[in-house]
Amino acid sequence: MSSTIKVAVIGAAGRMGREVVKMVLEDEALQLVAAVSPSAGAIDAGALVGKPNTGVTVSATIEEALEHSGADVMVDFTVPAAAYHNTSTAIRYGVRPIIGTTGLTPEQIEQLDKLCKEKGIGGLIAPNFSIGAILMMKFAAEASKYMPHVEIIEYHGDQKLDAPSGTSIKTAELISQVRQELRQGNPNEEETIEGARGGYYNGFRIHSVRLPGVFAQQEVIFGGYGQTLKIRHDSYERAGYMPGVNLAVKKVMTYAGLIYGFEHLMD
Ligand code: NAP
Repeated sequence: MSSTIKVAVIGAAGRMGREVVKMVLEDEALQLVAAVSPSAGAIDAGALVGKPNTGVTVSATIEEALEHSGADVMVDFTVPAAAYHNTSTAIRYGVRPIIGTTGLTPEQIEQLDKLCKEKGIGGLIAPNFSIGAILMMKFAAEASKYMPHVEIIEYHGDQKLDAPSGTSIKTAELISQVRQELRQGNPNEEETIEGARGGYYNGFRIHSVRLPGVFAQQEVIFGGYGQTLKIRHDSYERAGYMPGVNLAVKKVMTYAGLIYGFEHLMD
């Protein structure tokens, strides 16, 4: 293995993908070897991010991109409908997947873990690469041990495809692992407008707000006798995810099997 890590970026023309291309080009320890965008055309990847030519021409498909790339790692920020195919294809080529795309099902994640193990390579699926968001999830899980009445409200832009967000599902899973079993609320409660109480997850509720102007926020609210506790995280820009993606690209080289959650890389 050469000293630089060769990286393929899938969804390179997207909002997150462009940040990843920029991050890779700015780190001497990384080398951009492939970029995929179904609609950008065969342009140089540098043009996607306003940088000089890189010598990497954007490909329309992942197969075309990985065939002769020699990539060690691929980073995928695309759409839920494409992410499973992209990930399984990368694994088939022996390229370690780092998946930021949200919306993969637990069954798909399980299957991808199996494929990684069969191939003997590492991979990561992370619904959130931001360090503050990981801390918000950890603190929320801790609080739920003492204040088990909880609801999650997550806020994203109105063009987001999946609801609830991957981060809110991950938060709910972490809470469920440590919270005492409890079905909250009035057992006779009735919704006069369908969905008013949000999505049901293991005894508590998740609410998804979708509005233009919003980027990514989440609040976890705990209720107790005469008090509430709110744990809140606000993301303001996509560049804030890049230190996490950079760390993942480097650490995934040393793992075997698929890791789910960026928190496992922070220990
Ligand atoms: P976006 O701007 O809409 O970009 C998505 C890109 O996916 C588009 O540029 C599109 O390419 C590309 N695409 C669609 N189908 C494809 C395929 N079959 N193969 C390759 N590329 C394909 O979305 P975004 O805001 O960057 O978000 C992308 C994903 O990241 C979403 O699932 C979002 O929830 C997630 N996300 C995760 C984190 C995290 O920390 N894990 C943070 C933010 C967002 P064309 O432009 O060429 O059509």
